Amino acid sequence: MRGRVEEDLCMGHGMCAALAPGVYEVSDLGTNDMGEFVVVAGAEDAARRGARACPERAILLEEEVHSG
Ligand code: SF4
Repeated sequence: MRGRVEEDLCMGHGMCAALAPGVYEVSDLGTNDMGEFVVVAGAEDAARRGARACPERAILLEEEVHSG
C-alpha cells in the first residue's frame, strides 16, 4: 500500500502518529512531513486508522490493486 500526506492540509494535530506510531511520524512542530510513503506489509490497518483520524483528511491511501 502506498500513501501520501498533503503537507498543505496538515495542521499538526498529530493524530496520525498517535494512532499509528509505526506508520506516521510527526516533526517537533507536530506536522507530518512524510510526503509520499510506502506502508509495510501488515501495517495497513494501522495506516487506515491513522488516516481516518486525521481531522484535515491530509492522508491519502492507495489500496493495492491485486490482479489475478
Ligand atoms: S493527523 Fe493529519 S493534520 Fe494531524 S499531523 Fe497527521 S496528517 Fe497532519
